[in-house]
Amino acid sequence: MPIVCLDPGHGGSDPGACGNGLRECDINLIVALKVKGCLQAVGYQVIMTRETDVDVFGPDATASQELGARCDISNNAGADVFVSIHCNAFNEVSNGTETLYCDGSVKGKLLAGFIQKQLIGLGDLTDRGLKTNPLYVTKHTDAPACLTELAFISNPKDAAKLGNPVWQDEFARAVARGVTDYFSQ
Ligand SMILES: [Zn+2]
Repeated sequence: MPIVCLDPGHGGSDPGACGNGLRECDINLIVALKVKGCLQAVGYQVIMTRETDVDVFGPDATASQELGARCDISNNAGADVFVSIHCNAFNEVSNGTETLYCDGSVKGKLLAGFIQKQLIGLGDLTDRGLKTNPLYVTKHTDAPACLTELAFISNPKDAAKLGNPVWQDEFARAVARGVTDYFSQ
């Protein structure tokens, strides 16, 4: 069965974006652990870059050290796909879901598309579509990779979903379905 590397963004000395009483590092981890459960239940091997509130490289590392450590975990495990889970932040108005992949990666785009489609299929999330961005983790992973921004922690309506355990399950199941769609295409 495929090996999936899940990367809950931020953690430890880096909480990520904070808003509406939530810290991004916590939401990313909660959802990623639920994705892990969903995928393991259907036989996938899952590698996590972190399973607690920690820095992966070490506290206050540079971005390339911290993100490089996450890529190393995926690459050393020979992961078949890499999925990084984040929440977006901008202002109170911006909202919705987007998934990023490395420009030029055909498989990364496919993976991103399946995950984005499942997340939008939940309903009630604005579809911001697929985006390309030279993100460190999508560029330096050997596996097809994407980074999904579940919703905006800075938007009260999106944040209410991100902080709601029922929605956290929905987000997780959608990401997991996106991964299984990718492998059953
Ligand atoms: Zn983030």
